[in-house]
Amino acid sequence: MEVDSAAPPGAGAIVAAAGIAASKSDRQRGARVVAHSHVKGLGLSGAGYALPSGAGMVGQKAAREAAGVAVELIKIGKMSGRSVLLVGAPGTGKTAIAHAIAHELGTRVPFCNMVGSEVYSAEVKKSEVLMESFRRAIGLRIKEIKEVFEGEVTELAPVETPNALEGFGKTIESVIVTLKTTKGSKQLRLDPMIYELLVKERVAVGDVIYIEANSGAVKRVGRSDSYATEYDLEAEEYVPLPKDEVHKRREVVQDISLHDLDAANARPQGGKDIMSIVNQISKPRKTEITEKLRMEINKIVAKYVEQGIAEIVPGVLFVDEVHMLDMECFAFLNRALESNLAPTVIFATNRGMCDIHGTDIRSPHGIPIDLLDRCLIIRTQPYTLEEITEILCIRADVEGVKFEPEAVTILAEIAARASLRYAIQLLTPCRVLSESNGHERVLATDIREADAVFYDAKSSARVLLEQGDAFIT
Ligand code: ATP
Repeated sequence: MEVDSAAPPGAGAIVAAAGIAASKSDRQRGARVVAHSHVKGLGLSGAGYALPSGAGMVGQKAAREAAGVAVELIKIGKMSGRSVLLVGAPGTGKTAIAHAIAHELGTRVPFCNMVGSEVYSAEVKKSEVLMESFRRAIGLRIKEIKEVFEGEVTELAPVETPNALEGFGKTIESVIVTLKTTKGSKQLRLDPMIYELLVKERVAVGDVIYIEANSGAVKRVGRSDSYATEYDLEAEEYVPLPKDEVHKRREVVQDISLHDLDAANARPQGGKDIMSIVNQISKPRKTEITEKLRMEINKIVAKYVEQGIAEIVPGVLFVDEVHMLDMECFAFLNRALESNLAPTVIFATNRGMCDIHGTDIRSPHGIPIDLLDRCLIIRTQPYTLEEITEILCIRADVEGVKFEPEAVTILAEIAARASLRYAIQLLTPCRVLSESNGHERVLATDIREADAVFYDAKSSARVLLEQGDAFIT
């Protein structure tokens, strides 16, 4: 007969809490990547050549092929300490390529995107914002072995030790529970907290109970008839457990980021039970994530990795408008890129020669030369009208917008005049207008009407130039 010992209380809760936090924060960030939801990869042939259109990507042949080489370097571990810099005019697909790179690295690889100007906040230090993004882009895949034992209690014996203070009785150190299961006898040594639960449920010898353990840590115990639900991370509620799942041994894989772990453990701990953890996440009282806490988390993660319970999944951090960062941020990035816990960092900018933010030092793309030296630079080119038309058709399909052929031509011309992003943004307003005009498909007239009521960035700037006096400056 084997004796299993329960892991220290709370070890499993770290993972559970982080799992719930992950599902929330991922959804918030997800809202920002919707514009690129049609991008499923770089669309390269087996030999690494860009297909004219593939995996949602159109044109940008040279840039996509260069990105494909970067993906290979990342996969063989030859990108550490280096980054990718995407350079090109607005709307030429820099962000789309960054997303495509993340897809090529694997469907479960974390992708975190931020804009350079995000670091300027009145409340949080610049290095803190960057560090948080770094840790959002590093995943941890946790493999928990979930086991449920069910059987009749044949032994329920608290193990007592004399209290350190003489004359103060005894303390329960652990409890030995033996179950008569269908597969024989199973003896477990449980934590005193678990014993308290058994006492609360008035469990005694002869009762049929279940004991659920995740990777050796006992998570739940109770009478068998009450064991019917589990917490569903997607649905964020308790759901009935399928009958055949109740007594099965199964492997549960959870993907979380190091930041989710930091955040879940920085919050004041109200209790160790699952509902306290859920409440802390739904009504978080903000507590600073300190460097000390991150080091503690790193230690726990290293332990999980060593035990084979978890695996580190380095993801992609995409920093758009990198020219908005200042010297302090660049110094941080230079250091952080050297760390052995660094994600692949992809920078993007649409600036040419300009001053490094906050200085009068001119540098290509507003990036210090020492960081530029570490970058593989990929250039994106302007699109032809045919490429713009194809991208618009792909997006229209994703957004469920149906066009008359002439309408697509008009929208592509608008994209060429204003910007691709503006034309993509007009898609849904065009559909709404066409519906209220009683049209089954979007017509050229609907597009013109939408374009007449909205302003693209260039026409808005022109209005400011012409009517500057009418605005407060
Ligand atoms: P900015 O410099 O303004 O940040 P950007 O170069 O990052 O612009 P994106 O945001 O990637 O441009 O592109 C604008 C829109 O066009 C997005 O919805 C993007 O997914 C889509 N897009 C751009 N290029 C391509 C492409 N080659 N294939 C498919 N979709 C594309």
